[in-house]
Amino acid sequence: MIPVKHTLLTREHGEFMDLVDELSRRYIEPVADRIDRENYYPREAIRGLGENRVLSPVLPREYGGYGMDILGTALSIEVISRYSGSMGILTEVQGFLVTDAFYTYGTKEMREGLVPRLARGELIGSFALSEPCCGSDAAAIETRAEKRGGEWIINGRKIWITQGAYADIYLLFARTGPREARHRAITAFLVRRSKCIEVSPINVMGIRGTGTSELTFSDCVVGDDDIVGKPNEGFRIAMEALNLGRIAVASVTLGLAEAALMEAMEWIRNRKAFDQPLSNLEWIQFQLADIITYIETMRSIVYDAASRLDRRYEDYYAHASMAKLASVLIGMDVIRRTVQLTGAYGVWNGSKLNRIYRDAKLMEIGEGTNEVQRMVIYRWLSKYLG
Ligand SMILES: Cc1cc2nc3c(=O)[nH]c(=O)nc-3n(C[C@H](O)[C@H](O)[C@H](O)COP(=O)(O)OP(=O)(O)OC[C@H]3O[C@@H](n4cnc5c(N)ncnc54)[C@H](O)[C@@H]3O)c2cc1C
Repeated sequence: MIPVKHTLLTREHGEFMDLVDELSRRYIEPVADRIDRENYYPREAIRGLGENRVLSPVLPREYGGYGMDILGTALSIEVISRYSGSMGILTEVQGFLVTDAFYTYGTKEMREGLVPRLARGELIGSFALSEPCCGSDAAAIETRAEKRGGEWIINGRKIWITQGAYADIYLLFARTGPREARHRAITAFLVRRSKCIEVSPINVMGIRGTGTSELTFSDCVVGDDDIVGKPNEGFRIAMEALNLGRIAVASVTLGLAEAALMEAMEWIRNRKAFDQPLSNLEWIQFQLADIITYIETMRSIVYDAASRLDRRYEDYYAHASMAKLASVLIGMDVIRRTVQLTGAYGVWNGSKLNRIYRDAKLMEIGEGTNEVQRMVIYRWLSKYLG
């Protein structure tokens, strides 16, 4: 891998990347193909990362994290994704969307009882927001939580839920007021896996082995103690988690693009055409020059957005969306070019490039589609249009 140098990185960041690389070689590389081919859920790899504090590195050490900043966490997801995009997404969902949300907004019991176990990978958690009715328009969700006596009764369906098939607990967003109130009547709940939840796995073309599922909640009972944050403030929790998630997905795409470049360079070095190695051809050299330039562009915007979030710069949310949009648009272009450079090899089912290509497509959809990022960015920009 080409050494990563960037003005925002400290020596600590560099050492952390080396550690994550070593752990990825140990736990992820041996199962990366199997995850994709057999739709294999890498439970042991998750636990391996968790035991070494890199599943949710942003948490303080006493909660099972590494005490890293958000930039450091983004770096870990980038490195992991060079080996497997699926593992990058699993780490993102478990570490960012679920564990960090419980740490930041949860009750004392959730913080102390759940968070360390999630960070260690002993418990698996899912983030259950999207529904058959609505993904981009998350404020329109229909799953309801109704208060009866002292309990909340939850009914509804969630879809595309990463690790949904394997989760022990769900961070679930449900409507707790009229539909017209939209985002002002959504509450976040901790729901433990039980018989009231029917799980239907979904087969997807990329990011396989991540337990993507549809979930049906039928009369699931939870208490006031299971509310995460305050009643009717769930939408804000979801959106804050997604700011982190967007940077993480941008990092997954960066890791995928770097891996694609390495694959293409390796192949080009060994491939001959017209009596010479492909790497002697100026057209090929220029392609590689473009690709590394694009990758460095992705790196800069992703690291900058993570750093803005670390420093809570004003409008960091818009920069998280810009980083995601830029990273996936550029990343898709980079990865398409690497597949082209390797001819039929790149579309062969057995090649890593084939897997990277399919994984990357899903990055344009998860954590908000490209169009949703454009909506967020334009809304921010319009503040300055007078
Ligand atoms: C790999 C992966 C993992 C995921 N994991 C999870 C998870 O763990 N938890 C979870 O809750 N969800 C998860 N999702 C779901 C994801 O958040 C949704 O798929 C996404 O938000 C888009 O919603 P949708 O699929 O319903 O598309 P829709 O909202 O139906 O959109 C369809 C198309 O219309 C476009 N569109 C919609 N509204 C507008 C508009 N106003 N202007 C312009 N274009 C518009 C969209 O951009 C898209 O192109 C995951 C998805 C993927 C791909």
